[in-house]
Order: sequence, then C-alpha cells, then structure tokens
Amino acid sequence: NKIPLERVDANRWRIPRHYDKNMHVSGMVYADDELMELILGDNALQQVANVASLPGIVGHSLGMPDIHWGYGFPVGGVAATDAESGVISPGGIGFDINCGVRLLATDLHYEQVKGRVENLADVLFKRIPSGVGGDGMRVLSRDEMQSVMLQGAGWAVAEGYGVPEDLEMTEEQGCLQGALPEAVSQQAWARGRKQLGSLGSGNHFCEIQIVDHIYDQHAADTMGIGRKGQIVATIHCGSRGFGHQVAEDYIKLAESKQKDYGFELPDRQLACLPLQSREGQAYLGAMKCAANFAWANRQLLMDGVRTSFAEIFGRKARARDLPLVYDVCHNIAKMEEYEIDGEMKRVCVHRKGATRAFPPGHPALPEKYQAIGQPVLIPGDMGRYSFMLVGAQGSMEQSFGSCCHGAGRRMSRTAAKKAVGSKELLEMLEKKGVTIRVHSKNLLAEEAPQAYKDAQQVVNVVHNAGLASLVVRLKPIVVVKG
Ligand code: 5GP
Ligand code: MN
Ligand code: MN
Repeated sequence: NKIPLERVDANRWRIPRHYDKNMHVSGMVYADDELMELILGDNALQQVANVASLPGIVGHSLGMPDIHWGYGFPVGGVAATDAESGVISPGGIGFDINCGVRLLATDLHYEQVKGRVENLADVLFKRIPSGVGGDGMRVLSRDEMQSVMLQGAGWAVAEGYGVPEDLEMTEEQGCLQGALPEAVSQQAWARGRKQLGSLGSGNHFCEIQIVDHIYDQHAADTMGIGRKGQIVATIHCGSRGFGHQVAEDYIKLAESKQKDYGFELPDRQLACLPLQSREGQAYLGAMKCAANFAWANRQLLMDGVRTSFAEIFGRKARARDLPLVYDVCHNIAKMEEYEIDGEMKRVCVHRKGATRAFPPGHPALPEKYQAIGQPVLIPGDMGRYSFMLVGAQGSMEQSFGSCCHGAGRRMSRTAAKKAVGSKELLEMLEKKGVTIRVHSKNLLAEEAPQAYKDAQQVVNVVHNAGLASLVVRLKPIVVVKG
C-alpha cells in the first residue's frame, strides 16, 4: 500500500494533502495500531484520499475506526462541503439512506426473561416482517406514501404506532423539513408503498440485549439503562428499497452531469451535484423523503417490538414500559454550522456509516440529554457486544459532530461466506447463549462476528480521541435477522 500515513497520536493518522494533486484537504483517520492493520486490508484509505478531492470540501476528509471499503466513499467516512461553493455526493450518503439505529429500554431484568427467550424470539420473528424484498406491515396509498415522505416518524405516531415522546427521542424529531416528493421517481414511490414496517435482510436486525457493563453510571441512569442485567432492544434498519431507488436514480443523474459541471473526480462513484444547483437541491429533497421514510419505518418496527413484549409479558402501557432511549441515523447528509479556521461556516456534512455525536449543551438535544450529550448507538456484532456512548466536545472540534457507526467489516461478504459455515456459526451462537431467528440462513455467515472488527477496540478509539464517551456495553440474547 503506497498511501503515506503520518502518525498524529495514538488514535489518529493523517493522509497528507501532497499525496495526490487532486486533494483539497488532508485526510484524517481514527485508529489504533491494531485497527490500522485491518484497515489497510482494503482500499478504504484510498477512498478517504479520493473524497478529499470533492469540490468545496473543508476541514479533513475523515475516516472513523470502523472504516471499510464502500461505494465511492468509504463506509465510516465523514466529509463536510461548503454550503455555497460545495457539492453533495449521493454516494457519500450511501444506498440505504438514513439507515440508523434505535434503542428501547425495558424495566425487565434478565432473570424475568430468561425462561421466555425462545418464546420472545418466536413472537418477534412473527411480528417483524423480514427477508429480502419482503413486504412491510403496511401497504400505503399514494396519499399515505406522500405523508410518510413529508412527516416521517410523526406520521407513524399519528397513525397510532407509538407516542409523541418517541419523536422527542429521535434525531431531528424523526423528520427532516424540506422533503420534496416530486423529486422522487415513480419507481421509488412504488417500491416504498409496499415496504413500510419491514426489516429487509442481511445486516439489519432486531436484537434483545442485556446491559452487561456500565462505564458511566450517571449517563446510563439518565438514559434509563443504568441497571446491570437490564433488558433493552435495538433496531437497525433504514429506508429499504425506497431509499435504494432514490440513491440509484440520483447517482445516475450525477454521473451524467459530471462533464457539464466540469468535474474531474478520481473515481466516477464520487459523482456529485453542486449544492446550489437545481439537481443538487432535488437530490437533497428526495434524500429527505427517504430519511423520513426510514424514521417512519423504524417507528413501525419499534411498535412491533413493543407489541411483542406486551404479548409475552402482559403489559398494557407499552410505550411507557418500553420507552425509546434514542434513534440516530448513520447514512445521511445534514446542513450544519461549524467553526472552521476561526470562522462560522455552514456546511453539508456527509455521514456515511458515521453517527452524529453532539456534545452536552448542544441545542439540537432534547432537554433530558442536555447535560450528558447525545446518545450514540454503536452496534457491534451478533455474538459479542454493542455499545451506547454519548457525544463529546471533541466531535465539534475534530469531526463535524460525528463518530463511528459500528464495528465495521473486516471481511467482505464473499470472504465471510467462505470463512464461516452457517451451521458452525449457529452452533457457536448457541454456545454463547444467543438465540437466533433468521429468514435466509445462507446470508447469515456474511454477518458472522468474525466478519466484523472488534467493536470494543473501535469504541475505545473514539472514546480516547474525545469524539464520544462510553456509557454502557450490551450483550445480545436474541437476534432477529432478515
Ligand atoms: P451497516 O449499517 O454498516 O450495515 O452496519 C452497522 C454495524 O452494525 C456494522 O458495522 C456491525 O458492527 C453491526 N452489526 C451488523 N450485524 C449485527 C448484528 O447482528 N448485531 C449487532 N449487534 N450488530 C451488528
Ligand atoms: Mn446501517
Ligand atoms: Mn442499512
């Protein structure tokens, strides 16, 4: 690998700007020595350098410790572009627009659940539609589809899938303003109308976890997840075929326009649109529709989880018994303001496989979390652990209010399938006490723990670098997958 890496400190590496004449800014990658070894295993660092050539990019092209190769941009990448002179790159948001994670607390202890684990897994699997291209809980009329695009999670709450408090605990209250349904293709409309309230396949999941270790008791108590042995539920899902179609449509459009704009980017997958162009604004408006769809989707899925718990544990006040702790997106672009070289600047922050991590006191946080910072959910893998952190001040100074989004792959899907058999994987999970329900067994190996980096190492780096602080570690007991 010929990419020059300058060590900044124990957790950071710079890719100097002089590495390639196309780079407008340097790259900054967060990793310790061991993670860097793994990161060098694919071309993700070249992608960090490529992203640095986007018109109007400011600060650094950033790579988080969970970084791995992706479409144009790396997964685990962050890039901010000037709101006036910069661009937006659909590949820098990714195909699953507003893929994200939400976590529900319960007041149950493992002791109360352990005799019902199989039962719980069955009911969750029954109530949460999953599988490749599978239909969702709701088939939407055109009017309903339009409302979902415009109102996001708020539409779902108005339809009875949850309570208004849920919106407060969702990034952006579960709705980005300025969505433009007219900028969304008919094909995307059609795909979306069938898929609301579905998990899809592969990496998406609903997981029941135990609070296994507490790093910060005060923050954990504030979030309502401060008891060791407490049961919580995590949902990881995005905008399904709808967001995928929006991404495809606009990547195609961007590619066809690169010559007209006079852009010569090192990788055609970086194809981008000026933020101030008609096409750039259309993409933003369509992306917001997909983001809102994803929030409504996670809201329906959460309702399925609450209903499942009610069915088994006989609870009536479901939303109160299973409050939403927080919902964050990790594939999105947002217009935000940061101080850059002593000046406040409005920028478009691309977070692709990266989570917002705002520090205590940030105005975008709900009252409840003002003192501790924004909850940051980091899924690890189905065999080991996942984490909850809170955003820290360093994220504002270093990473446009962002940190990692997961453990990140260390093997491609194909490599994982070769390395692990699905039968031995199921045996291994059983030994670990993880009950699994999966739609497509042959896709399971792609998501094996071995296919991912060690999430503990990844979160340690963002913690030590001051981007976010550790709050609790979670261990899986039930995994439902597509
Ligand atoms: P992505 O959005 O990049 O597909 O996935 C985000 C992260 O979720 C991955 O980097 C990986 O660490 C994590 N992940 C994937 N499958 C599972 C799972 O079954 N359970 C948990 N807890 N995490 C997972
Ligand atoms: Mn995701
Ligand atoms: Mn996704």
